[in-house]
Amino acid sequence: MKREILKALKDQKEGFVSGQEMSERLGVTRAAVWKHIKQLQEEGYEIEAISRKGYRLLKDPDHLDGDALELDRSSSVFGKKVYYFESVDSTNTMAKKLAAEGAVEGTVVIAEEQKAGKGRLGRSWESAKGAGIWLSIILRPAIKPLDAAKITQIAAAAVGTAIQKNTGYAIQIKWPNDILMDKKKICGILTEMSAELERINFIVVGIGVNVSQKEGDFPNELKHAASIESCTGKTVSRRSLVIEILKEFEELYFDFLHTGSIEKSIHICRKYSVTLGSKVKVIDKEKEIIAEAVDITEDGELLIRDESGGLKKIISGEVSVRGLYGYTPS
Ligand code: ADP
Repeated sequence: MKREILKALKDQKEGFVSGQEMSERLGVTRAAVWKHIKQLQEEGYEIEAISRKGYRLLKDPDHLDGDALELDRSSSVFGKKVYYFESVDSTNTMAKKLAAEGAVEGTVVIAEEQKAGKGRLGRSWESAKGAGIWLSIILRPAIKPLDAAKITQIAAAAVGTAIQKNTGYAIQIKWPNDILMDKKKICGILTEMSAELERINFIVVGIGVNVSQKEGDFPNELKHAASIESCTGKTVSRRSLVIEILKEFEELYFDFLHTGSIEKSIHICRKYSVTLGSKVKVIDKEKEIIAEAVDITEDGELLIRDESGGLKKIISGEVSVRGLYGYTPS
């Protein structure tokens, strides 16, 4: 009921909605309407109440819960169902559990804080309370497990585009899965999958965006980390950024499912790449290769030229890419 009242207030962009009208439309008493209005005010919604006119929404707080996101999203499938938590171990772990229980494609898990946020290859992801966007999306694409790495490229292209559009500030993409500002890491993406030999059960894409941390907030070993606000000097609405991310991601994801190609995403990943044209260190389980990053292929692999001139394609799953002298290639 509270959600219906919030929706009625949001739908009425100008002017007031009368208590009478809401009570008739929703089939509850005017006192019940008032009770929910009070609850919304306690949650931070600024609502003006004037007798004989009704109610008017003055300020929409920057909440990330289901009421806020499901109502305001501009995507159709992504974010239709949102699970919001104050605190979780990891949004990816929670999303995998929900997916195994049957959660539909596009379901979003979002939390104010992760106590054990995850990076790739068993690394950890620092996710301070309220300081970022820590979310995971459940996908159920009918593609081969081998093609799952393409989803990481789509996510990187979509999140990079969304952040740049939302902030008006330049981003860079470090192949395969990091978004940077001023060449510092502001966002990481972690794609996990449950699959059989020929069939994907589900994919969970975790997206961590540093939004409001100050320079000294990161632990010492994260010298290459930054937040959007520390780079741009401007305040960011996490909610509007989440909405933008869901919209861009949904668009590029369904474009891939319809066309079978990730050409659009690769075009974006190439355009903003800090990796291409640089000397990089490609680190996999056993060894490090020093090579020049030449291109990102139509399938999302990194094409490198090693020191003897040989060309090799690298798949994103198992490797890390670094600059020769630091985290970012330059
Ligand atoms: P890589 O950068 O090697 O591709 P991942 O994408 O798996 O690694 O991200 C995990 C790494 O990101 C961690 O090992 C750590 O160095 C770094 N990291 C952890 N938390 C944050 C954060 N909030 N912001 C920026 N970098 C982080």
